[in-house]
Formats: sequence, structure tokens, C-alpha cells
Amino acid sequence: MRPRVTRHDRTEGRGGVGPLIPPLQHALRPLRQQVFEHVRAAGLVPRVQVAKDLGISPASVTTLTLELIEAGLIVEVAAPRDGEAGRGRPAVALGVRAEAHYVAGMKLSDREHTAVIVDFAGTLIADDVIPRRPGPMALSEILESLETLLTRVCAKANMTRTDLSAVGIGVPGFVDCAEGVVLWSSVLLDRNMPLAAAAVARLGLPVTIDNDANLVALAELWFGAGRGLSDFAVVTIEHGVGMGFVMNHRIYRGAQRLGLELGHMKVQLDGALCRCGQRGCLEAYVADYALAREATTALNWGHKESQPINILLESLYDHAKAGNATAKSIFRRAGRYLAVGLSNVINLFDPALIILSGERMRYDYLYAAETLAEMDNLAINTGRPRPPIEIHAWGDLLWAHGAAALALSAISEAILAPQPAQQSREIAAQ
Ligand SMILES: [Zn+2]
Repeated sequence: MRPRVTRHDRTEGRGGVGPLIPPLQHALRPLRQQVFEHVRAAGLVPRVQVAKDLGISPASVTTLTLELIEAGLIVEVAAPRDGEAGRGRPAVALGVRAEAHYVAGMKLSDREHTAVIVDFAGTLIADDVIPRRPGPMALSEILESLETLLTRVCAKANMTRTDLSAVGIGVPGFVDCAEGVVLWSSVLLDRNMPLAAAAVARLGLPVTIDNDANLVALAELWFGAGRGLSDFAVVTIEHGVGMGFVMNHRIYRGAQRLGLELGHMKVQLDGALCRCGQRGCLEAYVADYALAREATTALNWGHKESQPINILLESLYDHAKAGNATAKSIFRRAGRYLAVGLSNVINLFDPALIILSGERMRYDYLYAAETLAEMDNLAINTGRPRPPIEIHAWGDLLWAHGAAALALSAISEAILAPQPAQQSREIAAQ
């Protein structure tokens, strides 16, 4: 495709200058929403502090919190006053009304599906996991396991599905969260699947879907190391390689919500074949199937090919730990490719922190000192220190928790953000 060449001629007319920002931009959230989000982030906070933090008058905070209390979203809680116990009126703090809504967060993966139920304050109520057969599935099969898992996790929480207000689902692959469509995923047989709409029909609940690595970033932003950071990256290594990026305290997704596909960043022209169908993707050198492919060839493990990939990788790791040079070199090579990917993340985004997450972070060869040194060599030389790298070897529960955060924000956005009124009423009425 030829690039479109545009020549700007500003000699005629007065079209104005500066970015054309629509009036109700995301950044211009209504005050009521800002107050709610501030209370949710603080846990418990007195009114006077909310006024101070948001730079608005105490009278406005009183009016806005009254609305939020009447809407059932926040509550007043007696808070012990520091240093003056027993004197005067007890101090009153504001907190999210935990029982206002319950949501489920679910993570689909190649090995198993995981679910959590959390309350409106983000507290974990129950979790569950179901194994799945390997390989991609038809949409109907995925829906069936979603329903089974949701029923099970609801039972654990002593709830029924009708007690839930929303569901968030994390899916590996190319996911358009706005349209609710999975364009490609290793867990689905077909491309362009309208998973969100199909899940709404099947589960009878509002459903939001997103790329699973975005949800790990969201989990770090809501519950973890990223709460206080405006810009940070999460790189996940599981069956594939994923990335989530938080920009200005929000998940950055790109114009078509399909960006940040670090796993499919090309690290080799005409290189190894990737699951996505293209060649030379980072994932084709770092993900578990890439390691398994190398092990099968280099260690003459052809007879092990029928083994589950997890067992094969564990065996490879054991060999490396025992000093097998070939097994070690397989992990080291993958680590060097990972270094290429991470250095490009630094060069492109200049994050305050990079969090490496996912099941495969147990294989410490992937982030050995020499891998990080290689990353340093490849990052642009500015004389400034490189961003810290943290390893979070949390399991699927964290991913599902991120999916629950997605559902929680969908609810508060629907009620409080400037949106088509219809959708807000639907969720508020529940
Ligand atoms: Zn690829």
C-alpha cells in the first residue's frame, strides 16, 4: 500500500490551530466521578481531605458525596481520630459501599480458566479454576466453560449469577475491547469472534473483554506496584508474550485498541515461524512453544513431543539446573531475545518501571544478569539510569483480578461517566 502524501496549505481560510479535543474528553471526568474514584483509591478518606486533594470547595464535596451516598455507591464510616481518642464527635470518613455491586473476573488461557468474584471495593470474595483440554476451541466450547466456571465460582461465594452486576474476561491474543471482538487468539479456533456479545447472551450479564496482558497491567494499576506510577510497562511471558502499558494512569491501547503487541514485534527478518502466522516475532523465540521446539530438536526429545508443554519445559529447566549446557543455552538464547524486546520497550516508551509477570518467570535464566546487561547495551545511551525491572511471578489469579477491575470500572464508568444515558440506567437499575 502506498503511503498517503498530504501537503498542508494553510494560506487559505482560518481553520484554527491546536489539537481538536472533543469537549467531553476522558480527562475531563465529571467531578462526581472524580470524587468517587478518589474515595475508591483512598480506601477511607474524610470529606475535608477529598476537598483538599481535588482542589474543590468543601461545600461541593458535601453536595457530590450526598449524591454518591444516595446512589448507593459510597458510605460514611466512623473513623478513629488520631491522637484525640474519645474527645468530640467521631470523625467520619468516606468509603466505597462494598456490597453495592459484585463482579466476576475471568481469565482464559491455554491450560486452564480462572475466575474470581470481588465486591465493589475490590475485595476478593471467591476464586476457582477449571482445567481445559489443550488447543484452540470453538466459540461454543469456550462459552460452555465460561458458564461452568462462573456457576462454580458463584457457588463458592454463596451467590447466584443474578447477584453479579458485570463480568470482565481476559483473553490472550488480539482483542478489541471497545467492540468486544477477538480478532485472533490462541484459545479460539476462528478469527473475528464477537466474544463479548456471545457471552452476554449466554451468561445474561454485561460483559467486557480485553487482552489478558492489558488486564495484568490493570491489576498492577489497581492493586499492585503501579498504583502510584503514571507510566509503566508490564511484560508477560506465558504461552505467548504479551504487554500492557499504562500511560498517564490509564491503560494505553492504541487507535484500534490493538497496540502493544510486543510478542509480535519482529526481532528477525524471515525468522522463526510464530503462532500468528508471521515470521520473526519475539514470541517465536521466547514463548514456551519456542523453548519446547528448541528442546525437541537440540536434545533429541522427539519421543517427548506428545507430552504436555508444561512437563516438557519443567524437564528442560531441570536439565539446565543440573548443568546441561544445551538446556542452559536454550534459556539463555530466549533471554537474549527478551533483552532485545525489553530494550525496545525502553527506547519507545521510557517507562518508570518494567514489571515482568507470568508463569514463565519461574525460569530465572530468562532474566539472568547477562540478559539485563544485554538489555542495557541495546537501550539508547542517555547517561540516565535504565528503568528498574521487577519480577512478579504471580499466577492466573492476578490476571483474573485484573479482569474484575475491568468489570468494576465498566460499572462506575457506566453510572458516572458522560455516556449515552441508556447504558447507565441499565446498570444502575441492577
Ligand atoms: Zn507473531
